Parts: sequence; C-alpha cells; structure tokens
Amino acid sequence: MNMRWNLDKLYTSFECEELKNDFQLVDKLIKDTTDFVNTNFTDTDNAKDKLEKYLETKNNIENCISRLYDYGYLTYSVDTKNVTALKQMERVESYLPKLTIIDVKFQKWISDLDNLDEIIASSDILKEHEFIIKSSKRLSKYLLSDAEEQLIAEMQNTGSNAWAKLQDTVTSSLLVDYEDEKLPLTVIRNYAYDPSAEKRKKAYEAELKAYEKIDQSSAACLNAIKGEVVTIAKKRGYESPLDMTLVGARMDKETLDAMMTAIKEYLPHFHKYLKKKAKMLGHEGSLPFYDLFAPVGEVDMSYTFEEARDFIVKNFSSFSNKLGNFADNAFENRWIDAEPREGKIGGAYCSNLHCIKESRIMANFSGSLNDVTTLAHELGHGYHGDCLKDETSLNSDYPMPIAETASIFCETIVMNAALKNATDEEALVILETDIMGSNQTIVDIYSRYLFETALFEKRKDASLSVDELKEIMLEAQKEAYGDGLDHNVLHPYMWNCKPHYYYFDANFYNFPYAFGLLFAKGLYAKYLEMGNDFLPKYDKLLEATGKNDVKDVLDIMDIDSHDVDFWRSSLEIVKKDIDKFLAL
Ligand SMILES: [Zn+2]
Repeated sequence: MNMRWNLDKLYTSFECEELKNDFQLVDKLIKDTTDFVNTNFTDTDNAKDKLEKYLETKNNIENCISRLYDYGYLTYSVDTKNVTALKQMERVESYLPKLTIIDVKFQKWISDLDNLDEIIASSDILKEHEFIIKSSKRLSKYLLSDAEEQLIAEMQNTGSNAWAKLQDTVTSSLLVDYEDEKLPLTVIRNYAYDPSAEKRKKAYEAELKAYEKIDQSSAACLNAIKGEVVTIAKKRGYESPLDMTLVGARMDKETLDAMMTAIKEYLPHFHKYLKKKAKMLGHEGSLPFYDLFAPVGEVDMSYTFEEARDFIVKNFSSFSNKLGNFADNAFENRWIDAEPREGKIGGAYCSNLHCIKESRIMANFSGSLNDVTTLAHELGHGYHGDCLKDETSLNSDYPMPIAETASIFCETIVMNAALKNATDEEALVILETDIMGSNQTIVDIYSRYLFETALFEKRKDASLSVDELKEIMLEAQKEAYGDGLDHNVLHPYMWNCKPHYYYFDANFYNFPYAFGLLFAKGLYAKYLEMGNDFLPKYDKLLEATGKNDVKDVLDIMDIDSHDVDFWRSSLEIVKKDIDKFLAL
C-alpha cells in the first residue's frame, strides 16, 4: 500500500502554470482590495454592497493564499531540505503585513456602522457571515491608530518574531553530552520513553546539564517576547495577557474558571496514579520526573499500515458510516503520508485544505498502537474539516480550544475498541498509555498554566533572571503534581524546551489542550448516552465551530460551559480509567 500522499490536487509542481497564475491572482487581489478599502471605507454609504464585496474578496484571498502556503508547507514537512518549498512559504508570509493593514481598515470602518443589524438582515451573504462581522466590530475597540498598527506589524519581525527564531535555533542546535556522544535534544528527550531505567535517568540528568549552556539566552528570549506581549496587551486596552488570549480564543473567563476549578479538584486522583506508577517502577513514595513516561509492562502490539487502516475504518464505522467512509477514502486516495523517512519532520499533523475540500495528514507510522491512535487523531481533524467544507473560508476558521475536539473524540473511539479486544496484560499497557497522556494534558498543562500566570505577573515589573524562572517553574510543578512527583527530582528548565512559551500570538497555549480533552471526553459520554441521536448533532456542532463563540458551540449539545459539573463529569471518566488501572 502506498504510504506517501498525493498533492496533485493542490498543484502538480512548483513550476506548474496554475501555481504561477495563483501568485499573480493574489498580487492582483491584494492590490485591488487595498485600493478598494482606501477608497470605499471612508464613509458609510452603500454599506451593504461594500460589506458584501469585501467578504467575497477576503474569501477569495484566503483560499488562494492558503493553497499556496499549504503546498509549500506540506512539501517542506516531508522534505525539509527543499529550498523551493521554503522560499514559497516565505513569499506567502510576505503578504501578511499588507493583509493586516486591510483588516485594520475594515475593522475601523465597521466600528463606525450604527445600523449593523439592519444591514446584515438585508443580505443573505451578510447573514451567513454575521458572526465574523460582529466579532470584527467587537474587536475593533482594541485597535490602535493606522500608523501604530503598521509599525507594530513591521517591528514584530525584528522583535518577538526574531527572538522566537533565536530560541528555535539555540534549542535545535543544542547538543547534549551523553556518555561519549553529543546528541540533539530531541533524541535525548525521547529516551524518557526507553525501557531502561538507567538510560532514562542519565538522559534526564544530561538534558538538565545541557540547558545550562543556553539558559541565559533562552531567558533573554522569553523576557523579550513576554515583555512585548505585556506592552501590546496594555496598549490595546486588554485587562491582561490572559484577557487578550481569551478574547482571541473566543472563550470567556467563566468557562476557563469552571474548567480549572474541576481540574484542581481532580488532581489528587492523578497523584494516586503517579504514586502507583512509582511503586511499579520500584521507587519508594513519589515518582521522579524522569520516569513520567517510563513504559510499564511489556506487550507486543504491532500493526501493519493495512491493519491500521482496517482497524480504524472498522471502528469508525461502528460510530457512523460517514466517519468510516471518510477515513477509508482518505487511505484509498492517498491523503496520508505515513512513511517515516529521512528529511521528514517528526510527529504528526493534519492540514484541512479548505480550498480543495480535502485534508492531508502527515505522520510517521512505525506500527505501534500509539501510531494507530495518532492516525485516528489526525483523521478526526480531517473529519472536522470535512464537516466545514461547504462553509466559506471565513466561516471555517475555528478557535484554539475547539481545535482538538474531533481529533481526541476519534482517538477515544479507537482506544476503547483496542481495550475491548485486549488481554489483561495488554489492557494494562493501553490504559497506562492513555492515562499518561491525560496526565500530561491535565496535570502538566495545569503546571504550565500556573507558570505562565506567574511569569506574566512578574514580567509586568521587570525581567526575570534564570534563577527566578527556574523557581517559578518548580513552584508550578509542585502545586500541580502534589505528592505524585518527587519534589527533589522535578524539571526546573521546562521553559527552555517547550516552544509554546515563545509564540507571541499564542500565549497560554496550554489550557486549550485541557479544554480539548475534557470537551471530547464529555462528548463521548453524551454519545454513549444518546446513541444514534448523537450523530446529526455532532456534525452540526462541528459545522458551527467556525462561526460561534466557544460557549455557543457547547450550547448546541446542551452543555453549559460555565457549569463546573460538566467538567467534573469529564474528569470522572479519566478517574474511572485511573481506578481501573489501579485495580489491574
Ligand atoms: Zn491534534
């Protein structure tokens, strides 16, 4: 079976006529739109026509730009030495400041429209885009002057973006002294999963030692980026960087607070799991950080790519034929690049190619159960894209917290199926792998949330020293992991290796993971309760993700995101797995 994807539907090559034409088209569209906003967004006459025309052009630009960018990125991700692909991505990125200016002009103009409801009601296209239009108006209050906006857009390339690139270069070129070798950080961090206890411990010690070589520069990058965030958030009139993040994520503070309250309540159950794991691995008391990912039990569950396909399609079909057919079609028509090979990036991702109403999935399949659930996860993202394919480009962009819903849902389907067919020994391993993942998504994510909160609080006044950063990381880990982890063997340098802290546009890129997991678990519980009545509602929910606030998306399923009990009921599912694991 062919394990490489086919991208011909996007373009057949970087030299093909269609690609050249699309670049010309984008150039023209951006120039025309710039002229259009400059001449038309000066008064509020004919607002309906102007608004319609603007949305139509914006949809066209988005479609065209993402097609060009995605072709570059997809090609690059399986062939990282491809200079042409990289150049194409950079060429598309160079359009972004121009698009920012267009957006700012639009948002300012729309903030001056008083009778917006009336205008929207008079047009089908506008009604379809009501959410986007209204949220643009809502967000316009955070805009600065045109000159300031332009300056910020340009200065970010030499500011936060440059610092983020530096951090990336510093960590990706860091070599760790391990025995007689010098190894990259990614290799060393992977040893955390090794069956050898000695290797895990040594790798952890070597990793921490290596950060001493880069901690000053990492701290400088982090201080610069977070300092810029603090300044910009304040200038724009947000209460705090967290407030700015929540607005961007279309999520309210009440939802976050309800979820965090429930998480705090359930931490002790995770601590029990960690202590049990410590015992299984021969430790007295709590687990040392370096054994968080240690494998427990030895069973050989391996799958060929064909077997993975059959397993996924069969179990997806038991949920719904639509989902099963979707996955089957993705395998059949080579939407998946699963073959591990040199020059390909690590991990896995799914790219929803709205412009061609399809998706492509990149993975590194080596036959483990984890690889099968990863494929199921990415196919879940693909299915989400499929539910959005008939929406316009502007209506198919969903916010961070919702992004992991469909993926974790599909992962749960496959994980449960694997559990059902497993022997006791296999079940133990499957359960442990699953809980280990949940522990990361809930407990570790909670520690990152605490760390980032403390970091922003202190950064308001001054830069933080390396020692201060280590200190607040340790405090965060102690609070989140409680007595589950050995307080003398934590990881004070986590802020060096997680890239999320260095994304200017994605602060607090932690709670969305917890949200995704708990929302998906809650949905799965609903599915078990509702049976087939769940299916149409689920599709409707996914269709609505691009044009609603998070709270309203959950409302579709009659879930109140402000209700702590909903989050408790999701955590209860994880707790039951923990109990089952403890019993086994
Ligand atoms: Zn995902």
